[in-house]
Amino acid sequence: MMITPVHRSRDIERKPEYLQPDKCVPPPSRSSLGTMWFIRDGCGIACAVVTWMLVFYADFVVLLVMLVPSRDYVYSVINGTLFNTLAFLALASHFRAMLTDPGAVPKGNATKEFIESLQLKPGQVVYKCPKCCSIKPDRAHHCSVCKRCIRKMDHHCPWVNNCVGENNQKYFVLFTMYIALISLHALIMVGFHFLYCFEEDWTKCSSFSPPTTVILLILLCFEALLFLIFTSVMFGTQVHSICTDETGIERLKNQKPTWEKISGWEGMKVAFGGAFSLGWFSPFSNLDCKKPPSAEVAAAAPASAIMTQEEIEQFLAQDVAVQVLHE
Ligand SMILES: [Zn+2]
Ligand SMILES: [Zn+2]
Repeated sequence: MMITPVHRSRDIERKPEYLQPDKCVPPPSRSSLGTMWFIRDGCGIACAVVTWMLVFYADFVVLLVMLVPSRDYVYSVINGTLFNTLAFLALASHFRAMLTDPGAVPKGNATKEFIESLQLKPGQVVYKCPKCCSIKPDRAHHCSVCKRCIRKMDHHCPWVNNCVGENNQKYFVLFTMYIALISLHALIMVGFHFLYCFEEDWTKCSSFSPPTTVILLILLCFEALLFLIFTSVMFGTQVHSICTDETGIERLKNQKPTWEKISGWEGMKVAFGGAFSLGWFSPFSNLDCKKPPSAEVAAAAPASAIMTQEEIEQFLAQDVAVQVLHE
């Protein structure tokens, strides 16, 4: 058996200072894995707060400018309930997308012990991320904002202040869907309000003065139209990614699939956690049919195929990708 460094470009930048084996610390103990996932990124936190503010602004205008002053009680109750339910589901999906670990690979697991435990097959290639010192499973990418390698990373979304990856894609898709729905609903209500108020006396239409009402409604229209377009496109792109089993990064890089593609409805089942049910639309249901971490890299192999200590040290010290070959 021999070991050959394989120079592949993928998304790995070779920076020698990162490749020192002493920078690789063992993976964190079980107890620290239970802590909440939250990215401390100022720009992401600001974008997330702006997102909530925009939803609250829309809710304020819908309720206090349009529905409460309306004399049609049934219209107000039905639309108020529908809008608030969708807005609540949008914010809940946002929280789940933001606070769910998107599929982070344990940091610094490129240790001798871990590589030994992988029992690499002859010819098997493993990649080491030089930035976070982890062994990258297939389709994982390093995110410079999260400072971690993320499994099936699609993109880093500042609006949810998190990466969109294997474990939180469902919540992100739901977030874009509910935002698109409340935007559409708000636009329809603004349309009805303008029609109704042009016929009636303005003072009976809103508890605010006519200029204030118009400004508030135009701002809501602008916001709703912008977000309807943005989130519908995002929703379509995400569903397309799931159905073609290709992440945004893989599509951008035009990467040849090295994985077994699960497409169409099967892809949706994997992303949404099981067979079709109402749970698909709920940000509160968990994804419970996930593969255990490191399944792709940990493969059973005959003992003879395991790298020797010397080879592992060579791997940790010098290169980001190794291939274990037969003699
Ligand atoms: Zn990494
Ligand atoms: Zn990220």
